Amino acid sequence: MAKEQHFDGVGVAKGIAMGPAYVRESWAADVAERHIPKNAVAKEQKRLKDAVQLARRQIRRLQSRIASKTNAAAEELGFMLDAYLHMLQDSRLVRGADQRIADKQVNAEAAVKAETDAIAEVFLNMDDTYIAARLDDILEVGNRLQRNLTKAPVKLFSAVPEGSIIVAEQLTPADTAQLDPAMVKGAATMLGSAEGHTAIMARALALPTVLGASGLMGGVKTGDFIIIDGSSGHIIVNPSPRTKTTFEARRAKHLKEVRSLNRLRNLPAITRDGSEVVLEANVELPIEMDMVMQAGAEGIGLLRSEFMFMNRDDVPSEDEQVESLRSVIGVMGKRPVTIRTLDVGAEKPVAALLNGIEEGAASNLGLRGIRLSLAQTDVLETQFRAILRAANSGTVRILLPMVSTVGEVRKAREILKKAAARLIRRGVVIPDPLPQIGAMIEVPGAALAADALAQVCDFLAIGSNDLTMYTLAIDRGNEHVAHMFDPLHPGVLRLIQFAAGAALRARIPISICGEMAGDPRYTALLLGLGLRELSMAPSNILQVKKRIREMDMAAANHRAGVIMDQVDAGRIAMLLDDFNALA
Ligand code: PEP
Ligand code: MG
Repeated sequence: MAKEQHFDGVGVAKGIAMGPAYVRESWAADVAERHIPKNAVAKEQKRLKDAVQLARRQIRRLQSRIASKTNAAAEELGFMLDAYLHMLQDSRLVRGADQRIADKQVNAEAAVKAETDAIAEVFLNMDDTYIAARLDDILEVGNRLQRNLTKAPVKLFSAVPEGSIIVAEQLTPADTAQLDPAMVKGAATMLGSAEGHTAIMARALALPTVLGASGLMGGVKTGDFIIIDGSSGHIIVNPSPRTKTTFEARRAKHLKEVRSLNRLRNLPAITRDGSEVVLEANVELPIEMDMVMQAGAEGIGLLRSEFMFMNRDDVPSEDEQVESLRSVIGVMGKRPVTIRTLDVGAEKPVAALLNGIEEGAASNLGLRGIRLSLAQTDVLETQFRAILRAANSGTVRILLPMVSTVGEVRKAREILKKAAARLIRRGVVIPDPLPQIGAMIEVPGAALAADALAQVCDFLAIGSNDLTMYTLAIDRGNEHVAHMFDPLHPGVLRLIQFAAGAALRARIPISICGEMAGDPRYTALLLGLGLRELSMAPSNILQVKKRIREMDMAAANHRAGVIMDQVDAGRIAMLLDDFNALA
C-alpha cells in the first residue's frame, strides 16, 4: 500500500473533503496557426522571448516554494523544475521555435507547438524509458509556453471524474470559477494565498480548498486517495484507515456545526443590547444564489461583475450582461443589490479588455478597476446600460472599484447619465431616479479623503482586502509576504475608522465587504468602529450573525476604543481575542 504523506498549506475555504485526486499537470492551450507579415516577425519573436521569461519566473517561484522542504516529494519536484529551467535557457525547443517564426512566418504559439510536436516525434521513435521521461518534460515546457503566449482561458475541468479533488500547481480565479461544487469535492494547489481572488472564489463556492502547499505536485498522482482540511490547511495523500476515520469524525463534527447555525437563518442580526446590523452577501457567480437565500442575506452588498467577462475571448454584449444580471437581481426581489463595475487588472486579467494594453500596465498599481473602465469608456457605458436595464426588476446600486479621486466618481456619473439618455432615446424604461453611485474605499488615499468622496457619492463600501494590501504594501497574491498581511495593523484600522466617521458625518451609508467582514473574529471590532453593514461570502453570514447575537454593542464600542489606542498589531489581536473569548 502507498505510504501516507502529509503536506501543509493555507486553508482558505472551510470543510473536509476526501476522494480521488485529479492532478492537473500538462494541459495544452488551444493554439491556432496564423500567418504573419515579414515586418511582424521581430514582434512575434519578442512575444516568444517574453513568454520564456515569464515561464522562468513561474518556475523560480515554484522552486522558492519548495526550497525549505526536505521530503522526497519536494526533492523529486526540485529535479523536475531544474530540468524545466535548463530547457528554457537555451534549448532546441526555444531556438527552434524562434527560427520557425522567421522561416515560416507564423505566430509564436503555433511555432512553439510545431517545434514541440517535431521534437516529440523524434523522441517517440527512440525506444528508451529515460528518453520517454524527458519527453514529458519537453511537453510540459512547450505547454507552459503556449499557455503563457495565448493567455486564453482553457476549458480545464470538463474531463474530471465526479467526486474528485483537484490538485494543481496553481488555480487562477477564472479556473476556480469553472469548478462545479456538485461535481468536484475540493481543491489543493502549490501556489496562492488566503487573500487572493482564487481563495475568495473558493469560499464563494463553499468548496473546501487549501492553497500554497509546497511540494504537493511531487507527492500525488491522479487517482490517489486524498484528504484536504480547508480549515487547518492540512493535506493527507494515501491516508491510513486510521487517519481516514479521524478525518471522517472531524467532517461529521463540522457538518453538525453548520446544521446548528442554520437555525439562525430567519432570526435578526441584533446584539443583546438591541443594535441591529445588516448582513449582506458578496457574490462572485450566479451559482451562489441558492446559498445567498439559504443564508438569509438581507441583500447583495457586493456583486463582483467580473464573472460575466471571465473564461471568454470577447466582451459580453449588453443583452448578455442584462440576462446575467437579471439572474441575480431576480432572485433578490426587492432586497438591494449592489453591482460593482468591472474590476479588471492585477490578478484578475480579462484577455479581451487587456488586448492592446502593454504587458504590466494593468498591474496592482496600474490600470486596474475604474481606471481601466475610464480608459475604455465604451465598455463602461455598455455595462451601465446593462445595469440600468436589469435594474428595472429590483433595487440596484452601482459601486465603483479602485477609486482614488473625486474626479473618477464624477466622470463615471457623467457616463451613467449618457448611458441613461441613450436608453431613453431607444424607448427603454429605466429606473427614475437613477441608481445610487458609491465608491469602494480600498486605496489608502481614498480612505484619507473619504470625507471628500462622501460629497460626490451616495454611499461608500470599504474593501479591506485591497485597503490592507495598499496600506501595508503587501501583495495579496504573493505567498512570500502573505504572513504579513494583517488587517489589524493600526494603519489599516485607523483608515477604516476615519472612513466610517466620514460617512456618518456626511449622513451616507457605509459598508465593509472585504474578507474581514466575514470573519467572526473581527465582528466586534468592526461594529465598535462604527460599521453597521457587513457584506461577506454567503457561507460566513450565519456565523457572523451568531457572534452579533451573543455580544453587547456597548462593550464592543468600549473595546474598540481601547484597541484604537494601541500601536502594535500583536497587542490589538490579543485585546480582540480576549474580548471574543468572554462571549
Ligand atoms: C476588497 O478589496 O476588499 C474587495 C472587496 O474587493 P476585491 O476583493 O474584489 O478586490
Ligand atoms: Mg478590491
